[in-house]
Formats: sequence, C-alpha cells, structure tokens
Amino acid sequence: MLLGAIADDLTGATDLSLMLARNGMKTVQYVGVPQAGTNFGDAEAVVVALKSRTIAAREAVDMSLAAARALLEAGAEQILFKYCSTFDSTDAGNIGPVVEALLDLLGAEMAIACPAFPAAGRSVYQGHLFVGQALLSDSPMKDHPLTPMRDANLVRVLQRQAIGKVGLVPLDTVAKGADAVRMALAEASAAGYRLMIADAVTDADLRVLGAALTDAPLITGGSGIAMGLPDNFRRQGKIGTTPPPTSMTAPAGRSVILAGSCSAATRGQVAAAIAAGMPALRLVPLDIAAGNQDAAGVAQWVLAQDAEGPALVYSSDDPASVQQVQSSLGVERAGALVEELLGAVSIILRDSGFSRFLVAGGETSGAVVAALGAQALRIGPEIAPGVPWTRSIGAPNLALSLKSGNFGDTDFFVSAWDKLDD
Ligand code: ADP
Repeated sequence: MLLGAIADDLTGATDLSLMLARNGMKTVQYVGVPQAGTNFGDAEAVVVALKSRTIAAREAVDMSLAAARALLEAGAEQILFKYCSTFDSTDAGNIGPVVEALLDLLGAEMAIACPAFPAAGRSVYQGHLFVGQALLSDSPMKDHPLTPMRDANLVRVLQRQAIGKVGLVPLDTVAKGADAVRMALAEASAAGYRLMIADAVTDADLRVLGAALTDAPLITGGSGIAMGLPDNFRRQGKIGTTPPPTSMTAPAGRSVILAGSCSAATRGQVAAAIAAGMPALRLVPLDIAAGNQDAAGVAQWVLAQDAEGPALVYSSDDPASVQQVQSSLGVERAGALVEELLGAVSIILRDSGFSRFLVAGGETSGAVVAALGAQALRIGPEIAPGVPWTRSIGAPNLALSLKSGNFGDTDFFVSAWDKLDD
C-alpha cells in the first residue's frame, strides 16, 4: 500500500475511492478503523471511512489517529485526510483539530487544505469556497442541519478551528506550476504557517497541487486533491495503470432507496422520483419520537411495494421544517431518530432479500452501512461525479451506492439503477 486515506464520512470515502480508482490506483475502502494485522491484499490505496465529521472533536481526533496508525503500520507512504468539498465543519472542528493531530503524529510541519472539486461545482478562489456560482455562505449549505456553513472565507473558518497559523496559496501561485507552489509552501512554513488553504478552480489546478505534494507526509482536502496523487506514484515507478471499472454485476435481490439528506439536491431527487411514479414513504421525525412511525412499519410498507422497481423512504425536508423539528427535538436527537430508524429498516430489508441499497446522505449512509454490516467495499462504475456503485467484499453480499446529499442530477434516484448488471 502506498496511499493511506482517512475520510470523515462514508460517502466522502466512496467519492475519494472513486477518484483514486479513476486515476488508475487499485483502491479498497474500509468502513471504520481496520483491525491490526488486516490484510489489504494488492490494494495500492486504502481509504478508511470514519463517521467523524460531526462527533466531538476529541473523539474525531482519536479515531483519525487510530486510522492513521493502522495505515502507517501497513506501509502507507503518504496520508490523505479527506473532508467534504463544502468544508462541512463547525467552529469546534473537526477539520482543524484532526489535521493538527495528524501533523503531530507524522512529525510534519505543514499541510495544505483544499476542498475544491470543480466537477461538482466546488471551487476555491482567494480562499473563498464557491458552490457553483454562489459563495458557500449563500449556498444551501448555510442551512445544513448539522454543519451550517455561514462563512465562505476558508482561511477564517479554518483559523477558528486551529491552533497553528492558517495561510493561503493563491491561484496566481498555483497557475505558475508545482515548483512555485512548493516554494510558496516552504516560505509559508518558514514564516510559521502550519495550515495552508489552497486555491483551485479547475482540475488542472488540482493536478498542479498534487504534483507539488509528491513528498508531503500529509495532504488534506476534498476528493479533488487526490486527482494528481496516483501520477506521483506512477512517475516514481511504484504503480502501473489499472483501468477504472465500467460496469458492475449486482447480487440478485430487491432494491430500495433510503434518503436522510435534507440537501437541496436530494430534495430535488426525491421530488423527481415521486413525479416519475416511484412509490415513496415520508418519515416524520416527530412521529418517530412519538412512537407513531417505527422500523417494522416502514419495512412492511417497503415490502408491500412492487418488487420490480425500487421504493423510496425519505426524511428529506426543507430547511424551515428541519429547523422546527430540531428546535422541538434537538439537532442531535432529530438526526439520530432518523438515522437509527433507517438503520433498523435496512436490517429488516436485508434479511428479507433486499441486496441493492441506494442511500442519500453522508451521516445517513454511515448509519445504514454500519447496520448492514458491510466492512470493505470494492469500487464499481461511476453513476454521477463522486458517486459510484460499490460491491461489498465478503458477507453481506450487497450492491451499495452511498451518495453525499449534495451530489447527483435530479433524476439520480431513477437513473442510477441503469448502471447495474443483473
Ligand atoms: P448530507 O449528506 O446532505 O449532509 P446527512 O445524512 O449527512 O446528509 O445529514 C443529514 C442529517 O439530518 C442526518 O443526521 C439526518 O438524520 C438528519 N435529518 C434527516 N431528515 C431530517 C428531518 N426531517 N429533520 C431533522 N433532521 C433530519
């Protein structure tokens, strides 16, 4: 293994795994910290998926350090910490504390932080994160249930989370190429900077950053920052080129969509699936809290739908309704009620012969995959930028697509199934 990656949520890990596989690295994704002595087979990159984005910073640090130690013990030459391309975090963390703890572990002086992912509309310019044409703080991310992003200036956002000094590698430096970036980082390090937000608005910028980071012990960013890393190993003669998968055979069994994301993209996908005639059941957190909606009842509804097509179970709701629910139940409890219910539903469905699960939402996917018990995933064909089908390794035998809430076109819930072979 050459590259050891740690992702702060499951859909992010999948997105990163896809990026590495597409750029020719043999990639395997693990769910949770791998046990000591895990055999990673012929994997050139291992991506460990944590569920550490919104837990207490201390716990996120401990979990990330444990993952990094497991990867280093297995021979990782470089560590990559992956977070969301919308920099999902709060002033309490968890990006800053985790990056600084990993720097300490590695005995490294500095790391860059670059969430840019142009293919999904995320770009960073003058340290400001844009979602499409809007500043992050004007995008739907300002209303995220767990990590509302109300400041687009990432230098400022990260500085509020970090102890060390945060600086910027501006786009005009990136435009001058990898040597200029390396020089800028060395100068910033000498001036006492520990974390550097890096501008990037195109894939070419990300490849320049990748090339500049060949020898960096730690790299941090969205999945875009991984784009140029396989080439570094290839230039050094350490890897060949493994073609990315173009199709995937799915195990026999029924299909279901579980959506716990309240992002604008997912709400659009829910509306489009319902408009296309897909059977859909809405989860209502207040009903779950009152005991009027439970896993057995929801699973029974799914089982009663036409076995030919997928049915949709969703809790996705608009920001005003989410806020109302949160003020009555608390942010954490509202989220946990939905996540636990969807986890319990997925167990019943798995045990009833469902083998194809499409899950929308990072936290939601973490809860569902933990409940299903899938531990290692092989990356299959790409459905939308950042979203592949995956096939579990070992038991249980499942096809899983884990979609970050923001990702995918409006017809994603309807069209994703076309990429699976029977
Ligand atoms: P995304 O990928 O869009 O960030 P996540 O699944 O990571 O989606 O986060 C959404 C969070 O909101 C989850 O914790 C989920 O349980 C919670 N949630 C889902 N539906 C509702 C709702 N109707 N009201 C309040 N919270 C909700």
